[in-house]
Amino acid sequence: MSKNKSSESVKVVVRCRPLSRKEESNGPAGGIVQMDLRLGQVILRNPRAPPSEPQKTFTFDAVYDANSKQRELYDESVRPLIDSVLGGFNGTIFAYGQTGTGKTYTMQGAWLDPERRGVIPNAFDHIFTHISRSQSDKQYLVRASYLEIYREEVRDLLDPNHGNARALELRENPDTGVYVQDLTSCVCKSIKEIEEVMNVGNQARAVGATDMNEHSSRSHALFLITVECSQPGPDGRKHIRVGRLNLVDLAGSERQAKTGVQGERLKEAAKINLSLSALGNVISALADGRSGHVPYRDSKLTRLLQDSLGGNAKTVMVATLGPAPQHYDETLTTLRYANRAKNIQNQPRVNEDPKDALLREFQREIARLRAQLNHRKWRSKQKSEQVEDESWDGDQEKEIEDEEDEEVEKEGEDYMKLEEQRLEREKEAIRGDQDLIPDEKQKLLGEKERMMVDLRKEQEATEQLTAKYKAMESKLLVGGKNIIDHTNEQQKMLEIKRQEIAEQTRKEREIQQQVLIQDEETLELRETFTSLQQEVEAKTKKLKKLYAKLQAIKVEIKDVNDEHVRSRQELEQTQNELTRELKFKYLIIENFIPPEEKNKIMNRLVFDPEEDQWKFQSLVPAESKSSQMKKRPASAVGYKRPISQYARVAIAMGGHSRYRAENIMFLELDMTPPNTASVDCSKDGEPNQSPSVDSSPTKEKGVRKSQSWCHTPKSMTSSPSNVSLAACHTATPAAAQ
Ligand code: ADP
Ligand code: MG
Repeated sequence: MSKNKSSESVKVVVRCRPLSRKEESNGPAGGIVQMDLRLGQVILRNPRAPPSEPQKTFTFDAVYDANSKQRELYDESVRPLIDSVLGGFNGTIFAYGQTGTGKTYTMQGAWLDPERRGVIPNAFDHIFTHISRSQSDKQYLVRASYLEIYREEVRDLLDPNHGNARALELRENPDTGVYVQDLTSCVCKSIKEIEEVMNVGNQARAVGATDMNEHSSRSHALFLITVECSQPGPDGRKHIRVGRLNLVDLAGSERQAKTGVQGERLKEAAKINLSLSALGNVISALADGRSGHVPYRDSKLTRLLQDSLGGNAKTVMVATLGPAPQHYDETLTTLRYANRAKNIQNQPRVNEDPKDALLREFQREIARLRAQLNHRKWRSKQKSEQVEDESWDGDQEKEIEDEEDEEVEKEGEDYMKLEEQRLEREKEAIRGDQDLIPDEKQKLLGEKERMMVDLRKEQEATEQLTAKYKAMESKLLVGGKNIIDHTNEQQKMLEIKRQEIAEQTRKEREIQQQVLIQDEETLELRETFTSLQQEVEAKTKKLKKLYAKLQAIKVEIKDVNDEHVRSRQELEQTQNELTRELKFKYLIIENFIPPEEKNKIMNRLVFDPEEDQWKFQSLVPAESKSSQMKKRPASAVGYKRPISQYARVAIAMGGHSRYRAENIMFLELDMTPPNTASVDCSKDGEPNQSPSVDSSPTKEKGVRKSQSWCHTPKSMTSSPSNVSLAACHTATPAAAQ
């Protein structure tokens, strides 16, 4: 990638943690990592190689050994980045390394111990201290979000429904780049508030994990801070700069054990490897600079870090190592990875006046509320002048001039009090007035009462407006106030000195590294030989040196080849497992799903590249749905179902009911008397039934006929059964009913 004026490379620092107690007790003595802090070099010893094999040396922007302090790392390698973010750049810090090498320790550390606080709490401190010390014409808005990527799903850690919430989607905006849709973002006014946000997220992360360690070493956590700063420019207008900071704690980079994993676990392993290997591919493609295509879209992680790798952000990578000999391979891989990342070039630029700055919206809303309040103030001023004019005793004098907020509020309150007193007095006067007739008195009192209610309503509205105004305004941090810090001068000086020292060390290291490179190049030029013997000696020495270098590079090539073969084998293994799974699914589909069903499903499926998933097409196109539901077929206007012209005419003529398309039943009340038929027992010659049955024949044999279109009631009334009905009716009137 070509270097241009504004481009800068990704800063890569390496940190090695101390040997753990367990490692000390069971491994052979000593670690395999040595560090040269002055030169920024890591020297790695292969515990399995013969002593003659040269050690591997890597050079980085800075290295931190087991004795390094959190503060040192922050001041030297992170502070400049956070300063850039406060100036409107995008910044990213990510920790990369094997599980248990100190990624979380570096990023978060022990919160309660000031000595062991990691990058994130120190950054909180830094940001809010900077704001409190900046000039008072600057306004800030700080927001925080927290998410994790687990099994290629983005989850909001600040969502109260974290456990059940669906995965969030990534979207792309031409102005701001890739962002997470619907991600919770909390406005933070102090260190305490932003720490609270962090704790809420960490708890959600812990709750979401079935096995805390497993989960946290398999998920990537991203804490995002947006700092918006508005400052009057030379043109007199307020300009807004937006800095976005990504603090990333990646999943453990070790290879997942592949043997025997199936189903869910296989998917999970494949997906973790996907994100990390995609990250590796992106880094390789960028470092290489030759391949035009950078595979950002291969995973969620690389899409989210697109700006940070080869984009417009400033980036710091902290590669963490363990010193134990048993993890030699992993340590070497991490170092190689980090070494490659050094070559990535970014083009950082300040985000000036972006369209989506929230601060601008806040400022507008505050201005609107202020205008509303001022309008109210003006109204109350007008009214209070009127009150003074007609006041009973004109002793209340009030001057409303000041523009300050408290004044606005106070004046409002005063006016309300005054008005209330006036109404009370007027009410008293009405009550005491002997000339008024009681009706009139009541009416006037009612009117005053209504005025009181109105007054109270207005007062409430003003209070609400004021509260809203204050709440909005309190979210904006103004330089030079808001935060307690109020410059402990000594502490400030101390910090500045510390920064200077860090800067000095950094520069020294850079110079040393340059000197080393130049030394090798110019050695040849400076040498003049007095005798042949001397020349032979010098050249032999040089030859030996070059030979050693050649050997080291040969070993390196072999290592790289080995690693390549290993990763290819792993990929092949994963591929085999996935193929097996695919065959299994095919078997089920071919044997248990009818072909036509399969085709129907296949025709409905479409691939969504945004979400990297197959989706079902909806059966009814979304836009035509509503119009379809609203419109009735033309043939059925006014009716529930189609009806012919002939039938319509027939209905109008009162013709046969078969032409009725609707309301087939007659629902008018049936006015005919109940009609029952009874069996003549004596005629039948059957044995007599029990008296109780006999006495209520209608229960068994009687039929009540309702009037309907197919039976004319007249024919029923003329039936002879009517006679017996009368007899039965007199016997058991209740039963007949
Ligand atoms: P990771 O997040 O990479 O899986 P952790 O940050 O959880 O690893 O670290 C594992 C353990 O090592 C923790 O107990 C942590 O306190 C310890 N540790 C890591 N780095 C350091 C360090 N630089 N100094 C002291 N202890 C460390
Ligand atoms: Mg961790």
